[in-house]
Amino acid sequence: MLRQKEQIEFLSKKPPTCIKSTIETLMMNFQQISRNIDHLDQDLNQLSKRLDYLEESMTEHCILIQPQKQETKKKRRTANLIKRDFQCPYEKCDKIYGTDISLNLHIRLKHNGGSKIEREELAKKILDAKFQDEIEPEHSFNLPPNFIEDFQIHHQEYIHNLEKTYNKRILL
Ligand SMILES: [Zn+2]
Repeated sequence: MLRQKEQIEFLSKKPPTCIKSTIETLMMNFQQISRNIDHLDQDLNQLSKRLDYLEESMTEHCILIQPQKQETKKKRRTANLIKRDFQCPYEKCDKIYGTDISLNLHIRLKHNGGSKIEREELAKKILDAKFQDEIEPEHSFNLPPNFIEDFQIHHQEYIHNLEKTYNKRILL
């Protein structure tokens, strides 16, 4: 903070003339960038809607191409009749999908959760770091809640090998 005397001196000085045009240019750039962001935001919304539609169509298609048992007439299933077992694990998201492909696509695009492979690789790195008392590796995407716990449950052999390698058990 400037002291009062310095403040008065500073304010009484005439600003150099170039400053005004510089500020104006910056303001114009800023406004242009803001407009660009607005447009990108609109595009993103559009893409998001298209993605929802494509996911719906894909799920429905996957069900329809399955061989039908002795049915002579093909009945078109409505979206409500499609079995949906793949629930989005993120909080405050109630999306449920008919295939894990659709769910993984949703996680990657809507939650920046990375691909299934990326998430599993990261889980391994995190567990490795915990076993070695190292800090958690940095990552650029959002792991779903409880992902590490779920990974442990579904990859018990991997955990068992880690415990053998480091000769200790770990409670995470
Ligand atoms: Zn979700």
